[in-house]
Amino acid sequence: MKALRKMRPARGANLESVPVPTPGPIEVLVRVRAASICGTDLHIYGWDRWSASRIKTPMTFGHEFCGYIEKVGSEVTSVKPGDFVSAEMHVNCGHCRPCRMGQPHVCQNVKIIGIDADGCFAEYVIIPIRNIWKIDPAIPERYAAILDPLGNAVHTALSFPVLGEDVLITGAGPIGIMAIPVVRHAGARHIVITDMNPFRLDLARKMGATLAVNPTETPITEVQKQLGMLEGFDVGLEMSGNAEALRDMIANMSHGGKIAILGIPAKEMLMDWRQVIFNMLTIKGIYGREMYETWYKMSVLLESGVDIAPVITHRFAYTDFELGLEAMISGQTGKVILDWTGLACWMRFLILYPSGQLAAQS
Ligand code: NAD
Ligand code: ZN
Repeated sequence: MKALRKMRPARGANLESVPVPTPGPIEVLVRVRAASICGTDLHIYGWDRWSASRIKTPMTFGHEFCGYIEKVGSEVTSVKPGDFVSAEMHVNCGHCRPCRMGQPHVCQNVKIIGIDADGCFAEYVIIPIRNIWKIDPAIPERYAAILDPLGNAVHTALSFPVLGEDVLITGAGPIGIMAIPVVRHAGARHIVITDMNPFRLDLARKMGATLAVNPTETPITEVQKQLGMLEGFDVGLEMSGNAEALRDMIANMSHGGKIAILGIPAKEMLMDWRQVIFNMLTIKGIYGREMYETWYKMSVLLESGVDIAPVITHRFAYTDFELGLEAMISGQTGKVILDWTGLACWMRFLILYPSGQLAAQS
């Protein structure tokens, strides 16, 4: 099979031919249809300090995907070949205290498929059966391929009740903008999102934000005035990983406000903690998705019409992975999907070599 592999500890990745893996007794083999590119994949591709400290080459990366069960291990009974699936790629240990208390999403020894083990940028991927999520075939493949980051958005967005509340989201990356229709569906009043990137602010408007603003041009205090808000935001969702964005958020929260932080800062962040203390803010860190409550919630949200269509802006054949990665690096995208069916490659081939040329070659 073809797999997109990190062969050595340096920038880049290679499309390699490797043997199709065999599932163990409690694993399944999934034929990948579509996989989307995450910011983490850009770190692995570009090979930064984080990648150097975490990734062991050679390895296949990618952790957001959907596909069809190809083969099941000898002890697997809950799925069968042909079932449409995605997967929770955080694999919990099953024996630490949180795991034994029924909280696998806060496992102390979590391993991630696509980071610590071969991932889904390949024609086939091995997944432990307890991490498989069966998908209603009515859900389109392009949405099924982004359930992992949608789950990040849903987990963060539903961390605190938002019914009748004003919500501030900092960072209009793919995850930040997917939180918009979720909090809208959950009953939020004003949903304000900030970013400096005009392309992404535009996507945020398409996703239903009340206001999408560049905070360096329109301070959030000004936005509050425009909306007639007097007391600050009730709920904050930090989706940028940027210290300035978090400081701005803390300064614009109502007393007793609640903040969920998903964005991962590159280094320590300096905060005025007095604002947190005197305004009695609640701050919650978010990692991954709740296993598996988030998966139930996002399936139902999609079935009940939460529309995430604008977030998918680009689709490439896996053979064009470099175009996909470079598009993401440019920042002028929402989610970028790599098609692993091989069909997109054929379509591209037909466009590049119209029938006359094909006939001449054959
Ligand atoms: P992204 O990097 O595509 O988006 C972040 C956005 O924040 C960018 O559009 C950027 O322009 C914007 N931004 C930067 N500085 C800003 C500022 N001062 N104010 C407002 N916006 C600002 O990332 P994404 O894929 O949407 O993910 C969002 C964040 O969540 C990232 O930090 C990512 O690393 C993190 N993440 C965390 C988890 C987790 O489990 N905790 C999982 C996935 C991603
Ligand atoms: Zn554990």
